[in-house]
Amino acid sequence: MRASPISPTVDFSADGVQHGFLRLPYSRDDSAWGSVMIPVTVVKNGEGPTALLTGGNHGDEYEGPIALFDLARSLKAEEVSGRVIIVPAMNYPAFLAGTRTSPVDKGNMNRSFPGAPDGTVTQKIADFFQRVLLPLADIVLDFHSGGKTLDFLPFCAAHILPDKAQEAKAFDLVHAFGAPWSMKMLEIDAVGMYDTAAEAMGKIFITTELGGGGTSTAKSAGIAKAGVANVLKAAGILKGPIEAAQTTWLDMPDGNCFLFAEDGGLIEPLFDLGDTVRMGDIVARIYPVGRTGEEPLNIRAKLHAIVAARHFPGLIKSGDCVSVLASVVMT
Ligand code: CA
Repeated sequence: MRASPISPTVDFSADGVQHGFLRLPYSRDDSAWGSVMIPVTVVKNGEGPTALLTGGNHGDEYEGPIALFDLARSLKAEEVSGRVIIVPAMNYPAFLAGTRTSPVDKGNMNRSFPGAPDGTVTQKIADFFQRVLLPLADIVLDFHSGGKTLDFLPFCAAHILPDKAQEAKAFDLVHAFGAPWSMKMLEIDAVGMYDTAAEAMGKIFITTELGGGGTSTAKSAGIAKAGVANVLKAAGILKGPIEAAQTTWLDMPDGNCFLFAEDGGLIEPLFDLGDTVRMGDIVARIYPVGRTGEEPLNIRAKLHAIVAARHFPGLIKSGDCVSVLASVVMT
């Protein structure tokens, strides 16, 4: 396979703090020999594990970029044992546009793996992570939030994996992250995800959903900043005590966790994030908006659970995710 067209302006093997770019040639109308300049920071000090930290995999999710731009400007080489690679805005064109997918090619970064060196801009970025950055990493933290169309309880998460030793290490890092909620996560469709690519290489992969609605709050940004520091301490890359936080473990036992709309309309939530619902409860109503006098469509819980995610905009379309329910794990 051909080499990646991306040229890093930093040396991933050099000690010290380096701020630079992953430069991706992108010839276009407003810049004939132009490039996409994806900011990257490498902080390395001697031998030790490598953490690969990413935000902006989806361009309208902000807690990760906030925590990682802050970490990149403040982390000092002498604080580190090993290496920290920080890419605060992985799908940089999407991040600049404030959109989930790239305005260049409509690429959804988290459905583009393993990517392609001769593909679209998004596929080229995915390929660089697949073949250059992921192989350097021992642990991978990829920040997500709900974006403009979903809102989540703030949680850190890892997946149930066939390799139980790898799974246990990931859940240990989720615990160390210390979000108010911790999730054993089930994906609707794991094909093409960065998560799946990292896990297939045996990397210890954790992710988050820390809020949503296309913005952040003081609380959600604070959770992200504290969480990344805790993870680096748990990995032995930073020194100091982990700020032990109370976390409640959640589980997504099967596909009944996901509630989808089969009609569009005006959504009335009957429960909020964190509320407990029983099987059969109406989680939300969808009112048809074409005329008055019509009954709403009732969206009912299919298990006893708490509301972990909800559709964010006030209007909903057929096929949209109304809600994600999760079971509290008794520990
Ligand atoms: Ca996301």
